[in-house]
Amino acid sequence: MSLRYNDYTTLLREQLNERVQKISINAGFTCPNRDGTLGYGGCTYCNNQSFNPDYCKPSKSVTTQLDEGIRFFRKKHEDQKYIAYFQAYTNTYAPFDNLIKLYEEALAYPKVIGIAIGTRPDCVNDTILDYFAHLAKSCYVMIEYGVESTCNDTLQFIHRGHTFEQAEEAIRITATRNIATAAHLIIGLPHETHETWLQHARKLSMLPLSVLKLHQLQIIKGTQMARQYGEHPEWFHLSTLENYIDTVIDFLELLPPAISMERFASQSPAQLLIAPAWKTKNHEFVVKLQRRMEERDTFQGKKWRSTLPHYTIK
Ligand code: SF4
Repeated sequence: MSLRYNDYTTLLREQLNERVQKISINAGFTCPNRDGTLGYGGCTYCNNQSFNPDYCKPSKSVTTQLDEGIRFFRKKHEDQKYIAYFQAYTNTYAPFDNLIKLYEEALAYPKVIGIAIGTRPDCVNDTILDYFAHLAKSCYVMIEYGVESTCNDTLQFIHRGHTFEQAEEAIRITATRNIATAAHLIIGLPHETHETWLQHARKLSMLPLSVLKLHQLQIIKGTQMARQYGEHPEWFHLSTLENYIDTVIDFLELLPPAISMERFASQSPAQLLIAPAWKTKNHEFVVKLQRRMEERDTFQGKKWRSTLPHYTIK
């Protein structure tokens, strides 16, 4: 059965001609939203523990984290290759020479064929992007920007410390250098509505993105948002699983078919999660999504052309 959306994992396997697994790394970075450069409290929803695997500890070297991560995944697929995913915090936020040492330590590991770098739109510059562009000639490189919302009011409300215009600019100057460019977006941030989420799709569809990751807003213990959720539940529109699947499909219809979807939802550890408690693993989510797309007889990009401002139907 063919998928009704452009699946990143399938695309990567076709492009690289082999099975590839991402291995998360916590290289011990911080971020300007935590170290006082922009603020101290971080984004209101952020608790990095909620998405870091257990073996990811900055006290361990990059090589040790790769050893442990690969040992786990190798059990299932002995021959696969790996992408070192610098995931925790802001992975371009350190002096240039320190960054290069960490990236190159990862790339020197056997069977690591590339790197993926999670960062903020306001934490890249020409020097680091030129380095990535050079690197991308000899291995796989993807830069993943936390965009989170296309509404500046929301970005301000969640204390992101950057605007959507900064995200647009970072995506453009990265993609112009022929580097695979990804965005991460949260569906369900406070005060946003179904129409806001569709507006996100329209705005992102105008950008030169290769890959998109979506996830539902999760209220995580110990965050500023957890406190807000307790005091002002009316600020939040947390979806049921079924409604979220329909929202994702409405979103996909507006996206260009060329953007690959890496993720639609995430599942934080139960002991950290306050809401929503869907108890649905990622692979179960995509089966439900595909089924619902078939029921609705729709596909990624079905309504995409009508979102382009210069497009006229002849
Ligand atoms: S989400 Fe990213 S930018 Fe925001 S506080 Fe957490 S690590 Fe920093």
